[in-house]
Amino acid sequence: MTRYHNFSAGPAALPLSVLETAHGEFLDHGHGASILETSHRSPEFTQVLDHANGALRELASIPDTHDILWLQGGASMQFAMVPLNFLKPGTTGAYVMTGTWSDKALAEANFVGDTHVVASTKDAGYNAIPQPSTWDIPSNAAYVHTTSNNTIFGTQFASFPSNLGAPLVCDMSSDILCRPMDVNQFDLIYAGAQKNLGPAGVTLAIVRKSWLEDARTDMPNFLRYKTHADKGSTYNTPPVYPIYLVGKVLDWLMANGGLEAVQQGNKEKAGIIYGLMDANPTFFKGHAAKDSRSLMNITFNLPSEDLEKKFVEEAKSHRLVGVKGHRSVGGIRASIYNAVPRSSVEALGTFMENFMAANS
Ligand SMILES: *Cc1c(COP(=O)(O)O)cnc(C)c1O
Repeated sequence: MTRYHNFSAGPAALPLSVLETAHGEFLDHGHGASILETSHRSPEFTQVLDHANGALRELASIPDTHDILWLQGGASMQFAMVPLNFLKPGTTGAYVMTGTWSDKALAEANFVGDTHVVASTKDAGYNAIPQPSTWDIPSNAAYVHTTSNNTIFGTQFASFPSNLGAPLVCDMSSDILCRPMDVNQFDLIYAGAQKNLGPAGVTLAIVRKSWLEDARTDMPNFLRYKTHADKGSTYNTPPVYPIYLVGKVLDWLMANGGLEAVQQGNKEKAGIIYGLMDANPTFFKGHAAKDSRSLMNITFNLPSEDLEKKFVEEAKSHRLVGVKGHRSVGGIRASIYNAVPRSSVEALGTFMENFMAANS
């Protein structure tokens, strides 16, 4: 086995046991063909889809008030679908700005209608989540759009406000299922699968059914959530293989004790790296304010850019891969999603200690 310690931001590490199961079923899913070669209308795929829906509903305690949709186009497509469906003339799309992905979501909404920035930490280099008490929500808000985890900057909402007076939309692409969530707080949750849920190629949306009834209809059918909800995510050919793999990841999360246990594991993993940073703050300079730190993406700078370059190169020779910060912020970023094993995080921690000893 030559697999490396994978800290990629996305597509990201998948559980080894999931890959092994998929490998074993690749040529024959049990009905004489690969799931890749099987009709999306067949009983075999219908079972795969029903399984993914059922497992997700159970794992995340999704109430009957919400539909589960498997879509395509990534989270980036959701940036457009949200305003197309819900930003009606005379209303305002309200955006909480916490990073590059929020910027992109807002830019798409600006093509559709009126928008308003509710709060932003851009001036501070997106190093924190703005306090909900400061949010300036317009009275005609169609929705409030948030980004639960800021993959590039390494910040994360610790919790979400309720009673905003407008539907709450959340991009959870990089932290969905990293902890228990109260789905009822949200009117729409969406997530590209390739960070914390499965492979690239499928996008999850969890949407309040009653809100869908209220959505705009003046657009191509394909762009309407309602179209996909009415057809149980099979309006057109869905990404059959990514949905199959997500189902396996959901089984794995369940077998690992569900979301409470997953959250506990994530806190322990993140604690290994944050603990090191807190003990050596002049060498490992965290980007995120402490109360806004992400469990999923840990970002820091070293005393110089040269050292950062050296860190990335030497890490690679220790089979620690994917730790270069995003090109827009530089520095170091370790993405430690659900599927990144604790042993990989421990290996990174040991490397960081040795690197600091040799370079300070
Ligand atoms: C990666 C990411 C996106 C973009 O996802 P695509 O599936 O590539 O469109 C959007 N939002 C967040 C928070 C992300 O981490």
